[in-house]
Amino acid sequence: PSAMREVLVEVPKVRWNDIGGLKEIKQQLKESIEWPIKYRKIYEKVGIDPPKGILLYGPPGTGKTLLAKAVATEIGANFIAIKGPEIFSKWFGESEKMVREIFRKAKQVAPSVIFFDEIDAVAPRRGIAHSIDVYDSIVNQLLAEMDGITTKGDVVTIAATNRPDILDPALLRPGRLDRIIYIPAPDYESRLEILKIKTRSVPLAKDVSLEELARITEGYSGADLELLVKEAAMNGLRKIYNEIKLDNDSDQETLKKIEALNIFITMS
Ligand code: ATP
Repeated sequence: PSAMREVLVEVPKVRWNDIGGLKEIKQQLKESIEWPIKYRKIYEKVGIDPPKGILLYGPPGTGKTLLAKAVATEIGANFIAIKGPEIFSKWFGESEKMVREIFRKAKQVAPSVIFFDEIDAVAPRRGIAHSIDVYDSIVNQLLAEMDGITTKGDVVTIAATNRPDILDPALLRPGRLDRIIYIPAPDYESRLEILKIKTRSVPLAKDVSLEELARITEGYSGADLELLVKEAAMNGLRKIYNEIKLDNDSDQETLKKIEALNIFITMS
């Protein structure tokens, strides 16, 4: 019996302007992936191929997955997200079969973007891993599949890791994940942009200063900032609940009262 999971295909809806900061990186991804696919003929004329694979690396929660989804959205591609550890199977041969299945599905639903998160979990530098055989066969299968993609730009592989230093260098050779992009933690301007995006649909109290919040959240990732806004919204809801004894949210009067109250962002 096969223990293999079904490969799920998503239609992503992340636009470039849903991503705060990372301005140069967005530009780089547009130039290197989006435009060669959108303007295929022009690029062919000047002899530039879209890359088959890109590696995004950097600290966790900084928008690597979002970037991959935005690329897919903008080129009208399907999105297949795989976490490295999901490829592992204790059954002999199942891991390679899984890799084959991922690429088979990607070609079937092309144009598509395959996003391998935590790629270091399946492709560590040879000699680092304990069960060398399993890793080697997964890496070999990955390499074979990437080398086998001939249709230009129809299947783009994007991988992400926090540990580029432990990756098998064979993965980074030309024609594979040959574009390597560092995704940094957000600076002040980026944090401000992320806070603006995450509070787009949150009613804010008048005295909330996103500038001040961005200033005092040095070291926060995009994921941390998102959580902060969610917690503040929950606090706001709790306040509303306590003040108006919310018991029936289909009641028009109650809904009006909620709209009249502001959600207040507090720091935790
Ligand atoms: P990991 O390395 O942990 O897989 P990641 O770098 O792939 O993380 P994402 O999954 O893209 O990070 O982002 C995590 C969460 O934080 C998401 O819900 C995303 O909306 C939010 N986020 C992170 N960075 C940004 C950003 N620059 N702009 C908007 N939202 C962001």
